[in-house]
Amino acid sequence: MDTLHYLQSRKALARLQAQHPLLKIDCCYNPYVGCAGGCVYCPSSRLSKTGVRTNMLHLLSRELDATTHKLHIGIGTSCEPYCGAEKKFNLTRHALDIIMKRRMPLQIFTKSELVLRDISMLRDYSQSGLLAVSISICTMDKKLSQTLEPGTPDPQSRIDLLVALKRQGIFAGVVLSPIIPAITDSREQMKEVVERVKKAEGDYILPAILCMAHPAMKSFFMNFLHLHFPKVEHRLFALYERNIMPPEPYIRRINDLLAEINSAMAIPMHIPLEPGICSISPCIDIRHELPLNM
Ligand code: SF4
Repeated sequence: MDTLHYLQSRKALARLQAQHPLLKIDCCYNPYVGCAGGCVYCPSSRLSKTGVRTNMLHLLSRELDATTHKLHIGIGTSCEPYCGAEKKFNLTRHALDIIMKRRMPLQIFTKSELVLRDISMLRDYSQSGLLAVSISICTMDKKLSQTLEPGTPDPQSRIDLLVALKRQGIFAGVVLSPIIPAITDSREQMKEVVERVKKAEGDYILPAILCMAHPAMKSFFMNFLHLHFPKVEHRLFALYERNIMPPEPYIRRINDLLAEINSAMAIPMHIPLEPGICSISPCIDIRHELPLNM
């Protein structure tokens, strides 16, 4: 990893304007900045510096003590919470402790098997129904994953991680993200992910189409397409020319396709952290409306 910068944050929790309809979180905790994962679709991989927000735990305790609401907290929404720096700084592990003591609903997003280090804490909390651990997978194709996500564990390792979490009784599933038009959106590719989650006895799948909310990200991604996927660059450019998401007919087509793929397997496409409030449409984008807090 590059030189790590020590940063001070003004707040530990970045609040959403309203609860995220897909993820069911009200706020995000991201103690690290920048990521060595190198995912071509992720703003965190394009930051020129990597950093650690050293005052986050103190702020988190203070903010949670000051709130009178039950906050649904997402950890790792904008940067891998179990990145290399976590081994030294433990800002995710200690945050779990702070959040769990206050009995707040919690969802962790990761691709890293370092999450297994905290397995005993997660197992206990999962039994209370307040925890979901989401593993991100955009394709099961190892070669394609290496091109799109060069610094991350391969897709099979992530399925193995899901299996390991499930064996420990942890409520866990997969964020099928990002679904990249013309690259990871074929019936065969999405079906393979859904089948692997089913076999691993994952509790849910949350599908999310690629969102290009950041202009710098968009320009980087288009250059990447030009180099690696020249045959589809025009198609993607057309889909994202006017908006950060593809037009409605594309989204509808993916939703229908996923519904058809999942019809026999019936994996929930929501997170039932609180029964009765989880009626959602699949395939809104995970990053849309999430503050990046960088
Ligand atoms: S591992 Fe996660 S945070 Fe890191 S670059 Fe990839 S998507 Fe971004």
